[in-house]
Amino acid sequence: MVKIAVLKETAAGESRVAASPETVKKFIGLGARVSIEKGAGVAASVNDADYEAMGASVGDLSATIKDADIILGIQGPDPKALKGMKSGAWLVAGLDPFGQRARIDAYAKAGVEALAMEFMPRITRAQSMDILSSQSNLSGYKAVIEAASVYGRAFPMMMTAAGTVSAAKAFIMGVGVAGLQAIATARRLGAQVSATDVRSATKEQIESLGAKAIFVENVAGIEGEGAGGYATEMSDEYKAAQAELVSAHIAKQDIVITTALIPGRPAPRLVSDAQIATMKPGSVIFDLAVAQGGNVEGSKADEVVIKHGVKIIGYANTPAHLAADTSALFSRNLFNFLSAFWDKEAGRPVLPDDDEITAAIRLTKDGKVVNERLLA
Ligand code: NAD
Repeated sequence: MVKIAVLKETAAGESRVAASPETVKKFIGLGARVSIEKGAGVAASVNDADYEAMGASVGDLSATIKDADIILGIQGPDPKALKGMKSGAWLVAGLDPFGQRARIDAYAKAGVEALAMEFMPRITRAQSMDILSSQSNLSGYKAVIEAASVYGRAFPMMMTAAGTVSAAKAFIMGVGVAGLQAIATARRLGAQVSATDVRSATKEQIESLGAKAIFVENVAGIEGEGAGGYATEMSDEYKAAQAELVSAHIAKQDIVITTALIPGRPAPRLVSDAQIATMKPGSVIFDLAVAQGGNVEGSKADEVVIKHGVKIIGYANTPAHLAADTSALFSRNLFNFLSAFWDKEAGRPVLPDDDEITAAIRLTKDGKVVNERLLA
């Protein structure tokens, strides 16, 4: 019987867990045994007893790992924690392959088959397995809620007996999954919303959410969705045109949410200190990319930085700030992935070598790093 192990996360500030009582029940329904490390779900509001009620066993780290065929995580565990693990066992988690390259080598050495969930290809079949989407969605929501909470004014227009409160103006920079949710959330709170991106396909998406699209017109951006929905580094000419456009717009904004990312590269710089200086005191900027180098000059993870009277905020790990929901979605992403490859006869998931998903997410096998993106 295949054994699935779920470890307690050890990274600082990580409060999520890679299985929910619901996914434990579903794995057991497929014929697996599930073993959970003691206390793994507590920070995400799931008690050991909730897992036990679904049929999981709960134990210490070594009992959890012993004989495990598949280890699930939010982030990659310290390779030292994997001592005593079966050779050839799978490690399925968000492994930060570019940021934690030394770890990936250590996983290979330990004989682990490491599968990086953030490398899931953007194809229709894999949509329900995509941790970047599920986590970004809630992060986009949280960024707006946090910005609203530190903003010393209200978001909606309010007519009171004592006079009118005007609506906040919110500008969303980068309209991927997080940005779209940020637009929707800011609209629900009653702000006047505008947004920008480098990919031209987002223009229609912005407008369909009732926000205003602010786009560089004189230099070509990225046609349509871009490759796999991802942006690339822009030309210097584009960057200059974008800076000019943003400068004119940002001075009138109360709330700015930046979400721009480029896979495998530091986050693009979108807001300079000079631009911040033109904003009204009391304005708030939430930099969702702060952990990837930051879109905003001067932003610091988990700190409120005040520059020119503007509050700049951003979390090192935004999804960890709504751990109950992000854990439930992350857990489902893992279940959707493993169950899609479940081989009834083998009683476990089997990844065909020639499958597009296998090729994209498999980092290590038989003691070696095998992923093209890491070898390139
Ligand atoms: P992301 O996190 O990689 O980047 C966030 C946004 O920042 C993107 O929209 C990007 O274009 C933008 N950006 C990058 N550089 C910029 C710059 N210099 N200025 C302004 N904006 C900049 O993106 P994401 O949230 O992962 O999603 C991107 C797209 O992929 C979306 O259209 C989404 O619908 C699509 N997607 C598809 C699938 C699937 O089909 N399985 C899954 C996830 C996402």
